[in-house]
This record gives sequence, C-alpha cells and structure tokens, in this order.
Amino acid sequence: MEGTLTARDKVGVQDFVLLDAHTSESAFVDNLRKRFNENLIYTYIGTLLVSVNPYQELGIYTVSQMELYQGVSFFELPPHVYAIADNAYRMMCSELNNHFILISGESGAGKTEASKKILQYFAVTCPMTESLQIARDRLLLSNPVLEAFGNAKTLRNDNSSRFGKYMDIQFDFQGIPVGGHIISYLIEKSRVVYQNQGERNFHIFYQLLAGGEADRLAHLGLERDPRLYKYLSQGHRAKESSLNDKNDWKTVSNAFSVIDFTKADLENLFGIIASVLHLGNICFEEDPQGCATVPDTHEIKWIAKLLGVCPSVLLDALTHRKIEAKTEEVICPLTPGHSVYARDAMAKAVYGRTFTWLVNKINSSLVNKDVTKKTVIGLLDIYGFEVFDKNGFEQFCINYCNEKLQQLLIERTLKAEQAEYEMEGIEWEPIQYFNNKIICDLVEERHKGIISILDEECLRPGPATDLSFLEKLEETVGEHAHFQTRKLAGPKGRKRIGWMEFQLLHYAGEVTYCTKGFLEKNNDLLYRHLKEVLCRSSNRILRECFLVAELENRRRPPTVGTQFKDSLGSLLEMLICKEPSYIRCIKPNDTKEPSKFDDFLIRHQIKYLGLMEHLRVRRAGFAYRRRYEHFLQRYKSLCPDTWPHWHGPPGEGVERLIKYIGYRPEEYKLGKTKIFIRFPRTLFATEDAFEF
Ligand code: ATP
Ligand code: MG
Repeated sequence: MEGTLTARDKVGVQDFVLLDAHTSESAFVDNLRKRFNENLIYTYIGTLLVSVNPYQELGIYTVSQMELYQGVSFFELPPHVYAIADNAYRMMCSELNNHFILISGESGAGKTEASKKILQYFAVTCPMTESLQIARDRLLLSNPVLEAFGNAKTLRNDNSSRFGKYMDIQFDFQGIPVGGHIISYLIEKSRVVYQNQGERNFHIFYQLLAGGEADRLAHLGLERDPRLYKYLSQGHRAKESSLNDKNDWKTVSNAFSVIDFTKADLENLFGIIASVLHLGNICFEEDPQGCATVPDTHEIKWIAKLLGVCPSVLLDALTHRKIEAKTEEVICPLTPGHSVYARDAMAKAVYGRTFTWLVNKINSSLVNKDVTKKTVIGLLDIYGFEVFDKNGFEQFCINYCNEKLQQLLIERTLKAEQAEYEMEGIEWEPIQYFNNKIICDLVEERHKGIISILDEECLRPGPATDLSFLEKLEETVGEHAHFQTRKLAGPKGRKRIGWMEFQLLHYAGEVTYCTKGFLEKNNDLLYRHLKEVLCRSSNRILRECFLVAELENRRRPPTVGTQFKDSLGSLLEMLICKEPSYIRCIKPNDTKEPSKFDDFLIRHQIKYLGLMEHLRVRRAGFAYRRRYEHFLQRYKSLCPDTWPHWHGPPGEGVERLIKYIGYRPEEYKLGKTKIFIRFPRTLFATEDAFEF
C-alpha cells in the first residue's frame, strides 16, 4: 500500500534473487544497507552467502542458534553462516561426497571469523564419541596457534591473517569429525623484518614477551619490553595490546599442550622466535675498507646459543659472502648495507620455514589413521582481490589467486550448471559470462606467461633489473588484450600508468602493478653461507627446515612465483572435484566501526567480488533443483493425490502435486530426474503452505 512501509521496504529481501529483475548496483547496495541497519548481516544470492562485518557482537552465534539451523532445509530460516555449514554437512552425510566452502573478501571483511564460526558449528552440532573429543579439540585449537604465528595487527585489521589457509575437516561415515589437514599459502615474511607505521609484527613475538614466564625469557635472553626490539617497534605499536597479548599467550600455551607439542619442541620453537628478535638487534658498522663489522657481539652470542651454531661462523656468514667460481670458492666481505640485507633474509627464511614446520606439526597431530573411510568439508580462508594505490608483487600473486578461484567458480558452478540442464533435458537460455581463462593463461602459461618471464629474468646471468623485466613483458605479452604499459598505452587503458608499471585487466577490473621489487621478491635468495650455518644448527626444528640436501643440490630452488603457481594448481585440482559453497565477506567501513555503512567502499567490494555478475547468472538459470523423490517426500502432504503415499513414478507425483498447489508454467521445469524451480519465492510459498 502506498505510504506504508512494508517489511520488505524496511528490512530488504533475504535473497537478492528476489529483487526486481535487472537489479541495478544501487538497488543491490540499498538492500544490503537496509538489512545492515537492522543488524541483518547475512543475505543470499541463491545459495551464495553475502556477509557484512557488523564490527559488534550480535548474539547470533549462540548454541541455541546453532540448534535452530541444525538439519533444517536451507531456505526455511533467515540466511546464516550456520545454514551454509549445515547444508554442506547434510549433503556430505547423505551423498557421501566431499565439499568445500570458499570464503573470500578483502582484509577485515570477516573471512577468518566466518571460518571459525563454521568450525565451532561442527564442533557443537556434530555427533561425538568420547574417544574422538581430542581430535575435535585439536582441530579447534589449531586456530589460536596458527593465528599467533600467522596473524598481525595491520591498518585494516587488528587480527589480519598474513597467509592463505585451506583446512580439510575430515568426518567418518557417521558424520563425526575425526581429523583434519591444513595447507598454508604464501606467508608474508617481509613483516618479520619490517612493519608500516601503525602496524605490528606477528602476534607471537608480543605474546611471548608479555606472557612468557620470567625464567623462560631469561633463558632466551629476552626482556619484557617489546620496544627494545627493532623488528617489533618500527610500526610504533609495540605496546598496543599488552593485556590481550598476555591472555592470548595463555590460550596459545594451552593449545600447544593439547596439540601434542613436546617440551623439546617448544624449547626449539621459542629458541627460534627469540633468535629472530636478537637478529634484528644486530648492528653493523663500516671498517676503513668499507666492509661490515659487528662491534657488539652480544646478540650474536645469544643466537649462537639458541640455535646451536658457532658464534664466529655465524658472524662470518653475516658479514661475508661465498661466491662459487667453477673450481674454487671465493669469500668476499659484505658492505654494512649488504649485511643488513643478509641478516633480514636470514630472519625471513627462518620464520617462513618455521611457520611451514608448524603447519606440518599441527597436521601430524590432526591425522587419524584409525578411520579409513572419510569425507571432508574444506574451508578456504584466502585473501580477496587487492587494489591499493601502489600494488606490488604481493598484490600480483593475490590477484592471480583470485583469478584462479574465479576459474573454479566458472568450472564448478556455471559450466556444471549448464551441463546439468543438458543432462536433464531442460531448455535453458545459455548464460553469458566472461571466462577469465585468458587472464590466467597470461599470468601462468609456460614460457609465455608473466611468471615464466619473471623467472627467466631472475635466473638469467647478467644484469637483470625490474626495468628489464618490464621491457621483456612488453616484448612478449605486449599485444595481449588484458595487458598494458605506459609505452603501449592506447585505447585499452584508462588509468594513468607510470614508467615502472604494467596494468592487468582482471576479471574484476584494472589493476596497475609497480615492477619495483618483483625480481628480488621472486628470487627470495638466502646467501649460501647463511644456509650452511642453518643446516648445521643443533636446533632440531631448523635442521628439519634447512636440509643439507639443499646445499648439495646445486640447482636453484623454484622461485616464489613458481612455487605459488604450483601450489594454486594443486589447490584447484583438490577443489574441482568437491561440491562448492561460497561466502563473500564485505567490510562496511575503513574505521572498524559498528553501524557505519560506507556506500562507496561497499560498491567497490561488490564489484571486486563479482556479486552483480553472480546475481545475473543466478537469475538467468534456475535457482533451485530437487530430485523428484526428495521433493515429493517433503511436500506430499500438500496434495490429496500424493498423501500419505504416492505409488506411481515420482516424476508424475510431483507433476500432480505442483498442479494442485498452483505452480505457474514459467515458474518451473521438469527434467529427467529433478524438478527445477526458477525463483526462490516459489519455494518459499510452498514452504509457507507446508506446516510440518
Ligand atoms: P584478513 O584478510 O585481514 O585476515 P578477515 O577477512 O579474515 O581479514 P576477520 O579477522 O575475520 O577479517 O575480521 C576482522 C574483525 O572484524 C574481527 O577481529 C572482528 O572484530 C570483526 N568481525 C568479523 N566478523 C564478525 C562477526 N561476524 N561478528 C562480529 N564481529 C566480526
Ligand atoms: Mg583473516
């Protein structure tokens, strides 16, 4: 009625598919805002969940909420992350197949929180036996440990994950969680040695200093005040949350004891963490010949003690470089600048590999050999598209990862959807969507792709630079429709491109990358001298991380870009054969405030998350499909012909049933084994009519 506000006007619709056809971006934002203002942070696009970070506790994650969603059909309750979790779980149990839930969004949008809520949901609602409680606890407690070592305070998020994470939760045939497996991607090692203004290093350093027992700190040669450590204080936020750090230390210590870490493991592990802090405090000076010296060897002695290496060998390795000529080795002194570089490279390598060791260690405690038949639900909490004023090698990798995940969505959802219509003999209008394979190829193709070209520049003898890399790109992929540089600037590009920059036209929009630092970051070199020291360490963790075989193997290890490409390839292979669910997280404002909805920021995310396109595709197809038997089983009571039993073929029963309840022809199609319903509202109406 005119003049009165309907519920829909006030709280919006819970599924974007229900908005008028040809929904504009403004209508999309309006709907999101209405719901956000009512503290309704979740909205569907079909089966995809859109989540807006509320930046406040809403009381929607209680055990009674969990029970509400348990075993209830997807569209019967308001949208919730529990509905996504429950749906995946129930499908897994009934069809005994594997699933994954992909959670994406920009930093601070709520990905990690969503993944934790899902894990908690399974921990609380799944059946459990006494003997498997330990497996469940380890799954839950792997989180605080990984967050301590892999998360940090950034300007965007006080608890920002600085690595990508994939976690398989394994279930036995009864649906009991029995174990798990974690894979981490591309930890941001540069943070170990440098933080921007207002940011911090990884949490664990501050936790250890704030919460560690006095005798432990004394044993590690550490003081309590984080401001005394260069690696902890560049962002000037070292003392920020000492209270939390102290409490978090307790949580992490407790988690360590549940996840099977021995006393020796912890001693080695914290020996390494302390060594990194000591490393950061080593100062180099210049002798009259311009070579680096270390006037105060106090820190060197501590590192040598903690890592079990010889102090003079370590000092030598930090101030000299071993160059291998054909027949002999030449030792040349380093300048103080190069020594700083070597020191930082050592800190990054040690931390990065220790993180990988930690993930492996957690995995070995999550293995369950007793259960042979398992199905899994994978949780992927991974960085979303990043577009900053300045974009570097990291953004290039992250955005490439998002291109690959978009490929997955195309293969697993769009293509699969059309294949299903074909198989069921349903007429449908082919859905137009942009296939971004062309961009993936541009980045990853062997010999011709950007990563290959970068590798070639990194590996070729002679003076390769970030500029020569750019020139090589222009030569090789300059003609590509999705690539552009200043030199090639033509009608393809709109944004101004600088001299050292190239622009990629990603599926989600253009991004300009500065090539400065690409070679160095891709190479990620650690001087051989330092590697030798680490291989000979008596610290068991380090010895597992730096294998002597690496020294003997004269071939260079794969570059960072290639390693990342390969790990994404395996991730995709693993995901492509699982059933997908998607959660897209949105950050409502840049100030971490509740109840503040920044339209501009949100529009930007809607674009980069590809939500409008997803809605268009959803709308063009059929929103829901159900096997005849299942549909009949659920709704047979609505029609006298099918109640209490229907003895004929299920397809015919469904036909009688929907005729009786008055479905209009444009609302559905009948396939060989399933009914396809175009709009969710049809199903909602049927659900409303149904009172059991
Ligand atoms: P990053 O990419 O930096 O790791 P993220 O997407 O994982 O970011 P989260 O760490 O999950 O972001 O969320 C950032 C913060 O937002 C959380 O620490 C929490 O304070 C708040 N937050 C996120 N989701 C919720 C929620 N559902 N309810 C309440 N607060 C939330
Ligand atoms: Mg996170």
